[in-house]
Amino acid sequence: MILTVAMRKSPLRPGGLELTILGAGDAFASHGRFQSGYIIEGPSCRILMEAGPTALCAMKRMGFRTADLDMILVSHLHGDHYGGLPFFLLEYLYESPREKPITIVGPPRLEERTWRLFRTMFPGTKPDLPRLLKYLKFIEIGAGETRNIGPLRISAMRTPHMKRDISLAFRLELDGRTIAFTGDSGWTDALAPFVADADLFLCECTYFDSEQLDFHMNYPKLAANRGRFRVGRMLLTHVGREVLDRRREVRLPMARDGMRITI
Ligand SMILES: [Zn+2]
Ligand SMILES: [Zn+2]
Repeated sequence: MILTVAMRKSPLRPGGLELTILGAGDAFASHGRFQSGYIIEGPSCRILMEAGPTALCAMKRMGFRTADLDMILVSHLHGDHYGGLPFFLLEYLYESPREKPITIVGPPRLEERTWRLFRTMFPGTKPDLPRLLKYLKFIEIGAGETRNIGPLRISAMRTPHMKRDISLAFRLELDGRTIAFTGDSGWTDALAPFVADADLFLCECTYFDSEQLDFHMNYPKLAANRGRFRVGRMLLTHVGREVLDRRREVRLPMARDGMRITI
């Protein structure tokens, strides 16, 4: 179902973004939801944020062209967030060769891990790599960094989610709007200042009952602390089975696959 929600508090500012929820599910595709993924469309740039294994399917099902993407953002190197990248590389090698640049942005080791995964999933593939590499660029961004990448200003914060690898939350400024996104994260007091004043805050909410697990958010904690997030709008996403099983008790707005939001 496609739902459009007008949400901007200040219609006077130029720019504006369309956000489409490709998937609002967790790694288990709970209740049949696609894994967490988002298309951000502005006048200057089209971005796919998160590239789990279901992202390519969701994009095509919802009528998006892979050729139109300028950038792919990946928050961390868990399969439900970057495990779909080999399908995009395959797409760009065979089905839809790039005719303009595309940048893949994510945490340290993103490039090496992506190609390693590609070679594992499609061994022996002899693609026209030189052509793709002419258009493809990886940018690895560290925790605490802010970078300008084309029209996008991106800040990254390390989240309590992975032990050795670095998982990131993002703050994106594009075409006069700000979107904040937790990626995957346990609770941390550092999130509230990081997301402050965002027009939209996409916040993971994997659990409801499993409050003892500290590497993902749980609903009771988020509900109790909602007032600390001074944002225009907050949407729960990366929603897991526990939350969906008890959705009638959920009082915070929840993202759904196919939802469209004008920011
Ligand atoms: Zn995840
Ligand atoms: Zn994760």
